[in-house]
Amino acid sequence: MPLTHVIRVRFSYPLQKLSIYWLGVFFYISSLPNSILSLLLYIYYIMKSKKTVFLTGATGTMGHAGLVELSKRLDRFNITLLVRPSKINKEKLAAYETVAGIRIVWGDLTNYQDVLNGVTGADYVLHVGGMVSPAADYFPKKTLKVNTAAAQYIVDAVKAQPNADQIKVVYIGSVAQTGHRNAPVHWGRTGDPINISVYDHYAISKTIAERIFVESGIKHWACLRQTGILCPELLFKGSDPITFHVPLDGVLEWATAEDSGRLLANVCEEEVPDEFWNRFYNISSGPSFRLTNYEFESKLLKAIGCPAPEKIFEPNWFAIRNFHGQWYTDSDLLEGYLHFRGNQTCDDYFKWMASQVPWYFHLAKIVPPIFIKLGMGAIAKKPGLGTRNWIKNRHQDRISAYFGSYEDWQAIPGWDKIRTERPSETPVFLDHGYDESKPKSEWDIEDMRKAAEFRGGKCLSPAMTKGDLSTPLDWECQFGHHFKASPTLVLLGGHWCPECLPLPWNYDEIAKGNPFFAQVWYPFHDKKEHNVYDESIFADFKE
Ligand SMILES: [Zn+2]
Repeated sequence: MPLTHVIRVRFSYPLQKLSIYWLGVFFYISSLPNSILSLLLYIYYIMKSKKTVFLTGATGTMGHAGLVELSKRLDRFNITLLVRPSKINKEKLAAYETVAGIRIVWGDLTNYQDVLNGVTGADYVLHVGGMVSPAADYFPKKTLKVNTAAAQYIVDAVKAQPNADQIKVVYIGSVAQTGHRNAPVHWGRTGDPINISVYDHYAISKTIAERIFVESGIKHWACLRQTGILCPELLFKGSDPITFHVPLDGVLEWATAEDSGRLLANVCEEEVPDEFWNRFYNISSGPSFRLTNYEFESKLLKAIGCPAPEKIFEPNWFAIRNFHGQWYTDSDLLEGYLHFRGNQTCDDYFKWMASQVPWYFHLAKIVPPIFIKLGMGAIAKKPGLGTRNWIKNRHQDRISAYFGSYEDWQAIPGWDKIRTERPSETPVFLDHGYDESKPKSEWDIEDMRKAAEFRGGKCLSPAMTKGDLSTPLDWECQFGHHFKASPTLVLLGGHWCPECLPLPWNYDEIAKGNPFFAQVWYPFHDKKEHNVYDESIFADFKE
């Protein structure tokens, strides 16, 4: 029997059945009025094109702003949330629970089954959730555990999906990963060294989590590092001693909560091009949001009707180093892709925040500044995280980390001699240790060797495929630790040896042999310093 005949025989019956079925459908559809036909076509189109977005952290500042924005686009997105079933979270999300197109998984980021439940069926994963400051400052060990476990679970859950290569994963990192960047190195960009401030378990957790995503083998990822988020809630947070961990002459390029929310929704839109993925970005609301911390304090106090910083604080209540924040030379890159910035200035935003303040805040105007100063001074004296408490009790580790020495603290001048002007507005670029003018598609093993040498180590891999930035290579740090890392992670993310990552903080020793890192260390640390901060600095913390 000829082969063609066999095929015809085998398929003739189902084909016949199929054509009768479609003929019926055709006649049925033709008999419908046009309006119903259009409706059916529209429903079919929506069902087919709607994407599912899985969002974590929907009760936090950024995640909630993302939820607000995404829920305006329910014609295009189904939303899945993973939220801890606490009373306060249930209240916060009550309005969303019955909305069609929103699914809430009441569970925990540290439970794999809950994470898997959330990720299943998602086209986009926006991992915003985790423990953040101030809780992270009070529970350092728990923060490290929760944030790194959550990252690993998300990666595992994405990779367990049948369409893993189509899922787009966005991880929200933090400006805290690059640590203290006052003048003269206050301008920065992604690829600058990871430089985690002492005591900042939050930044350790964000850095480890970022590494997990970048090296996961997930086909589409993006690491977006979040900065300070401006939102009206900030106006009510003045009663925490962490306020005084922020050096007055430090800088931040802020992002508004609304911009951050729009960014989360926009990254899920079809227009985002392929080249966007597998890269690092810094988030900010733009040049007008570049403030010194002194400017920020002044604007914030003005918004709540309080007197100027000079009237209610002493300069030596504030740390002089060991925080985080920078002005970005590269934050416009993200805006270029996602167009998330509202077109308002920082001053306009502060005016709007001031309008959100309850009436009784304005009573501050009639309180003599000396009383406010007494209250603020008491906050700075709080045991545990109060800067004045460290000085009073000569807390050696806290003093060396945040001030250098007791003598350095004593040398902090009064308001008459404190410098409050803005640092240089001219961007300065750190040396990344390789030829940045060379296209990435041309990067080869020689570029890796050069970058490793500038980090005080070696690239041990004998060869690499030119332009392959995702396959991990073998490296050695200045202390002889061997590790694997992709060129993307090292050259574009500023990461390096995982064993040298705190704990312990051994940055004085690292800076001696790592010129790349030394760029951000020696402007604020004496070459004679040799501090090591290990687990013992957390002896006072329960979790
Ligand atoms: Zn090392």
